[in-house]
Amino acid sequence: MLWLALGPFRAMESQVLVIRIKIPNSGAVDWTVHSGPQLLFRDVLDVIGQVLPEATTTAFEYEDEDGDRITVRSDEEMKAMLSYYYSTVMEQQVNGQLIEPLQIFPRACKPPGERNIHGLKVNTRTGPSQHTSPSVSDTLPSNSLKKSSAELKKILANGQMNEQDIRYRDTLGHGNGGTVYKAYHVPSGKILAVKVILLDITLELQKQIMSELEILYKCDSSYIIGFYGAFFVENRISICTEFMDGGSLDVYRKIPEHVLGRIAVAVVKGLTYLWSLKILHRDVKPSNMLVNTRGQVKLCDFGVSTQLVNSIAKTYVGTNAYMAPERISGEQYGIHSDVWSLGISFMELALGRFPYPQGPALGQ
Ligand code: ATP
Ligand code: MG
Repeated sequence: MLWLALGPFRAMESQVLVIRIKIPNSGAVDWTVHSGPQLLFRDVLDVIGQVLPEATTTAFEYEDEDGDRITVRSDEEMKAMLSYYYSTVMEQQVNGQLIEPLQIFPRACKPPGERNIHGLKVNTRTGPSQHTSPSVSDTLPSNSLKKSSAELKKILANGQMNEQDIRYRDTLGHGNGGTVYKAYHVPSGKILAVKVILLDITLELQKQIMSELEILYKCDSSYIIGFYGAFFVENRISICTEFMDGGSLDVYRKIPEHVLGRIAVAVVKGLTYLWSLKILHRDVKPSNMLVNTRGQVKLCDFGVSTQLVNSIAKTYVGTNAYMAPERISGEQYGIHSDVWSLGISFMELALGRFPYPQGPALGQ
């Protein structure tokens, strides 16, 4: 290992930050930074460029408390990473442990045509952020201690996910039910996708929805979107889930069959998992299949709360294009109805257009 700076240090006290740049297959380089909190994404890429002159690096990753890799490709994501790192430093200080450097993993730009494990070229949203209300806070870093995974889950399960801790960033899309935002959760340093739905319902129904959503805390599958919590503010519910940087499959146009085959395996595994919990998805369609740059495919927006589905249905003006006939005609329906929607969705993704003459075009 090449050492440019030595040993552990009291980072918070000295305001010195050591970034350990991991080099694939050959150790690491430690970089001492004297103005940690002011550090910009560009500065880090410049240093990575000096360390790895052969590669064109456009992003890097760090690991969260679960060992999951989080990608950084903007100043905002840098802030989230530093905030998370400083909270771990504080915890180490409180426990009298040595301060670990901040480890980052450079990601080389893939040459055009190179694909991830599913063979799908994942589009990421790196454009300028369209700031949305509530206003974006640039304060840094969060002073709260890093929560262990179990602790965080407990806090979330107690309904402690709240509006004050969330900084809304970009708008990811609008659906029939509401709007999805990319957001930053200050206490955990996590990037979230928050779906905000306007619902004019009674307090009683709000409570019922919250209790019906509880099962989502128990969902644990790599084919299902991670759930962080939900809360009501006035007449709107915010549902916080894992952010998928590749977005949904409806924008990918025609997907080659060999790629689609692998995606189908993930989607079917996700559905089988839900069915094993006696949950019907009820809204299988390309816009509810999400992908990320780690090559994962995950399902979202499944109908876990009957009351939420019913409340949205009252104002629903969308299409029934993916619905099985028995659902449209109001008959009893089950797993086979999800399978119908799965078939239509995959026909659409394979053909690059909706399979029937009148139906939604891709990307709409
Ligand atoms: P509908 O309201 O009929 O379900 P929809 O699925 O297109 O339609 P939303 O569920 O509101 O609408 O989602 C809007 C868009 O937000 C999606 O098309 C998708 O691109 C994006 N999106 C949703 N959830 C996430 C997420 N967890 N990570 C990244 N992008 C997401
Ligand atoms: Mg959706």
